[in-house]
Amino acid sequence: MNIVLVGAGPRNLSLLERLLAHAQRTDEETTITLFDPFPIGGRVWNPDQDPTFLMNTVTQQLTLFTDPSVAKSATGVFGPTFYEWAITVGPEFIQSHNFKNAAIFLDEIARINPNRFTSRALFGVYAQWFYENLGNYRPKNVQFAYLRKAVIDVQQTAPHMFKVLLEDGSTVDAEQVVMALGNADEANTNEEQGFADFTAQHTGLTYVPAGHPAEARLDTVPDNEPVILRGLGLNFFDYIAKLTVGRGGHFARDRAGELYYVPSGKEPKMIAGSRKGLPMHARGLNQKKDAESHRPIFFTAGNIDRFARENNGKVTYDFFFNLIEKEMNYKHYQNVISDFGLTWPFNAAEFLEALRHSANLNATAREWGVPDEYIMNWDRILNPLGESAEAVDYNEFMVKYLTWDINDALKGNVDAPYAGAFDMLRDVRPVIRHYLDAG
Ligand SMILES: Cc1cc2nc3c(=O)[nH]c(=O)nc-3n(C[C@H](O)[C@H](O)[C@H](O)COP(=O)(O)OP(=O)(O)OC[C@H]3O[C@@H](n4cnc5c(N)ncnc54)[C@H](O)[C@@H]3O)c2cc1C
Repeated sequence: MNIVLVGAGPRNLSLLERLLAHAQRTDEETTITLFDPFPIGGRVWNPDQDPTFLMNTVTQQLTLFTDPSVAKSATGVFGPTFYEWAITVGPEFIQSHNFKNAAIFLDEIARINPNRFTSRALFGVYAQWFYENLGNYRPKNVQFAYLRKAVIDVQQTAPHMFKVLLEDGSTVDAEQVVMALGNADEANTNEEQGFADFTAQHTGLTYVPAGHPAEARLDTVPDNEPVILRGLGLNFFDYIAKLTVGRGGHFARDRAGELYYVPSGKEPKMIAGSRKGLPMHARGLNQKKDAESHRPIFFTAGNIDRFARENNGKVTYDFFFNLIEKEMNYKHYQNVISDFGLTWPFNAAEFLEALRHSANLNATAREWGVPDEYIMNWDRILNPLGESAEAVDYNEFMVKYLTWDINDALKGNVDAPYAGAFDMLRDVRPVIRHYLDAG
């Protein structure tokens, strides 16, 4: 059998491992070919990209291997998480290969912390090690290879046969094709095209379209000139890093231990904004080990299935969202209790019991006398500026808001009243998958 995997990112690399594991059970001759115009690891984790770009997942929470949650009956290749790899075999692997950023990678590993973030490029090195390591587990009946080429078309030629057309005009026949293409490039919207056209017609203006930050031509932004950064999402942090520390600036600490930025003088004048006018909430400092995650009480597969059974196999959005909201509110109040510590004014066990049986957790919290500032106020979370945006001193508000947000996040992604409740959203993804899988 011929299998083609289009894309050499984490998804297809994990799939390759699964295919090799399952191939142990047959003696069918199988050839697996991975195609990607980017190196193994793929476009997001390209080891050759600028290491200024950090990942947003802490090092100990990443792995390409299966973990003990995979049924014991299934074969599998077990191996180190990204963090374990980095502190054991990582440096030797880097030294024995010819990576453009080798010196930076070794420096990163010397400073690595399980609860902090490394460059995305370094994870790409781990992906390459993973791929090379898989060769040791290859059953005799399987051959696999990676070719650095883009696939431009896949045509079905028979019920179980596909013709895969490559960028160089050659073709490959395959019985199975898996496309794990990641974030695809998008065409400019009309508005974005308008910006591109306008800047093309006016000298001294540059427009950098949305896309992968590592590929954005930020060197076209001149030193000390104004630049508008549109949007305050994840890419914003990449851009701001590239335009500051990426231009030779660095951080230092003052006597009180506060970080401050020491400019290089090459930074542009950055004007940042978004429709909401605020960045995303800060992620809580990591307190979770490896695959540790919040165990839901309300937002469970069982509750969703029960509702579906009672409603002709259908689950309404309101029901679905209400469970998520309850789950987050409950976690919030649990964390508020531990944040109060000894000063918590009433019986916590009875309060939590009341919350577990409540249809409206905020109303119950109010009845029990939880002060207003500790009520999980969704309107304020979603729109912290509120309706009075025009009336507030924006700078003053922003500094106060960011200080509040960061102080909450410093309490950790398990314990923080807000960041701990938000982080739970990452942990309940299996339930969301269950819901989607069930259609
Ligand atoms: C800028 C950016 C930063 C991110 N940072 C993080 C992070 O820090 N932590 C995190 O957990 N997730 C992050 N993500 C999410 C990331 O997409 C996933 O973690 C992960 O990479 C998804 O794996 P994948 O294999 O599905 O897709 P990808 O990793 O995107 O891999 C898809 C691959 O398919 C290739 N491909 C596409 N079309 C073709 C074609 N026609 N022919 C051949 N190959 C093709 C692409 O070149 C690419 O290498 C980030 C995403 C982006 C875009």
